[in-house]
Amino acid sequence: MPSQAPEASSTLLDRLIEDLDDEQREAVQAPRGPVCVLAGAGTGKTRTITRRIAYLVAAGHVAPGQVLAVTFTSRAAGEMRGRLRSLDEKGADGVGTGAVQAMTFHAAARRQLQYFWPRVVGDTGWELLDSKFGVVAQAANRASIQASTDDVRDLAGEIEWAKSSLISPEAYPAAVAEVSRDIPLDAAKVAKVYAGYEAMKARRDGTTLLDFDDLLLHTAAAIENDAAVAQEFRDRYRCFVVDEYQDVTPLQQRVLNAWLGERDDVTVVGDANQTIYSFTGATPGYLLDFSRRFPEAAVVRLERDYRSTPQVVSLANRVISMARGRMAGSKLHLIGQRDPGPTPTFGEYPDEVAEATAVAKSIKKLIREGTAPAEIAVLYRINAQSEVYEEALTAAGVAFQVRGGEGFFSRQEIRQALVALQRAADRVDAVGADLPPVIRELLEPLGLTAEEPQGVRARERWEALAALVELVEEEVALRPSLDTRSLLAELRQRADARHPPVVQGVTLASLHAAKGLEWDAVFLVGLADGTLPISHALARGADSEQVEEERRLLYVGITRARVHLALSWALARTPGGRQGRRPSRFLNGVAPQATSDDGPSKPRRQRGATPRCRVCNGALSTSASIMLRRCETCPSDVDEELLAQLKEWRLETSKEMKVPAYVVFTDNTLIAIAETLPADEAALVSIPGIGARKLEQFGPDVLALVKGRR
Ligand code: ATP
Ligand code: MG
Repeated sequence: MPSQAPEASSTLLDRLIEDLDDEQREAVQAPRGPVCVLAGAGTGKTRTITRRIAYLVAAGHVAPGQVLAVTFTSRAAGEMRGRLRSLDEKGADGVGTGAVQAMTFHAAARRQLQYFWPRVVGDTGWELLDSKFGVVAQAANRASIQASTDDVRDLAGEIEWAKSSLISPEAYPAAVAEVSRDIPLDAAKVAKVYAGYEAMKARRDGTTLLDFDDLLLHTAAAIENDAAVAQEFRDRYRCFVVDEYQDVTPLQQRVLNAWLGERDDVTVVGDANQTIYSFTGATPGYLLDFSRRFPEAAVVRLERDYRSTPQVVSLANRVISMARGRMAGSKLHLIGQRDPGPTPTFGEYPDEVAEATAVAKSIKKLIREGTAPAEIAVLYRINAQSEVYEEALTAAGVAFQVRGGEGFFSRQEIRQALVALQRAADRVDAVGADLPPVIRELLEPLGLTAEEPQGVRARERWEALAALVELVEEEVALRPSLDTRSLLAELRQRADARHPPVVQGVTLASLHAAKGLEWDAVFLVGLADGTLPISHALARGADSEQVEEERRLLYVGITRARVHLALSWALARTPGGRQGRRPSRFLNGVAPQATSDDGPSKPRRQRGATPRCRVCNGALSTSASIMLRRCETCPSDVDEELLAQLKEWRLETSKEMKVPAYVVFTDNTLIAIAETLPADEAALVSIPGIGARKLEQFGPDVLALVKGRR
């Protein structure tokens, strides 16, 4: 075992703990053996864990090469390596120079498997399956299951969840039923594809295909089943450290158990309140049960938050103090250590455009006052929300980067949608309020179904396409004479105007992608009920674990801010839209139900006169109501027989023209005709959705039909 000269090591040991608080020191100086640091965001967990490694090395307890530090994402592993490297400056030689292995679970397993495979398996080789997609698609095909691209992605996600949770294909249906998991297809079908997928990975020529989960499974099995392998491995690594331990899956825990064997030299740090990846199989159970498993463990709780101002910390405390259910017992009260800063602001806006415009304006102000753009982030619940912020920041001339997802117009479904629109531009002659429903129908084959679909990927696609239709509604509200071609040109222009990603720009990211990161200024946007908590979590019940996970997402978001924090939501999606939303339920009793200091800014552009309902004279906002010229809820005086005749005529006409029926007229336009019974061309052309071209093409036919009924 290496040892240092007592004098040198004592000054080095002092240096390694001089800028730590008492509790952090306790964790760093704890003797070899199990240590658990349970602490909230920004309390220095990552700092403590890297110091402990350096300390154990400097004290001569372990050689740098015998330490294995693991975490879950490459970014987090990079963060650990960076902090270890910086300790070399304190004289902790060999800690940061690469001798300490700091990597993801997967990278560690892959390296070990490469080394041990020939011994445990023999001559046959293995190949890493980078993406499950192809094999899952084949397995679905062989099982005679019709699966769209999105279905295949969701199936792959389910297989990943099952493998991470150590659930076999046979056990899958019972397991999903037990946890009432939201799944994209029938459980028996998923199980069938899962079984087929596993069988297909063993290739006939002897090469085995291994996916990322198999790397972990095989590593654990090699150590569990072969005493010589276990011995060699355990001679090599003696000390284990895990950061963000609340994210561990049962499969990763099994690997950690195999690594440890009967030993107990393991330090774990985590925060159960930051568990936001349960849907991938991660569970804080191991973190919370650590001291039961190792009764002699040193358990340290950190409460001082070094990242954020007391104002931000106080808000984080209030939000998480309302947590209920499984994780609520692990509540930690953070104490802000930084100098006081500005009070977090809460902003309520009439619509998302107004919200984004105000956020962009505040960002510009911060930059003008000296905050670097790279120190500012806008965080939202789902990636489709980025669009309106990309637009607002572009308009404000602020450079940005979209993290953990591409920009809105780079998304596959949006690119496909623009192609579909381009194709339709020549034959679809829709104007103004007619456009949104026509576009909605056009996008249906791309995944914009009437009901929000099941399945993660399908839902993402659906949300992005729905956001595109909202964008169209917004454009139409601003320019009622917009037609298909000018709309397409407008969308293209928007897409082209987006800046190419810049590293030093403002960060746009989902809350999930923001975990572990920190910025001087954070904008938490779109905090409307139904977005956070997201509607499909609410569908599981207001008290469900899914809703609690959404609350933790808000906590993660708040605790990313060092100094400036702004929370906001919009009462409607689009300008002029029905203001039916409320702020997130997590802000009840937390946010003054009021607007931000300088008040929500005006909508971006002026709009024309508000269309009104011909029945109740109320303002109309949705495209369907504008087209009907009445609220969708106001009584209809439709001539049913005429409507049936109009539909029949439309069907024949569309057949003749070889176009879909809605290209002739949408249902809503027909209803408007059957309600208002236009007597002449002037009356007909005043119906939204009927322009000069349609009047010329279909006017005589329609007027003849109406005349027959008058
Ligand atoms: P998260 O839960 O978000 O991962 P964490 O607990 O890992 O947070 P760190 O990232 O280690 O927290 O620390 C947060 C910030 O506080 C870092 O900038 C870190 O350098 C600083 N910090 C931690 N401990 C101290 C301390 N004792 N004195 C001064 N600064 C500290
Ligand atoms: Mg950390």
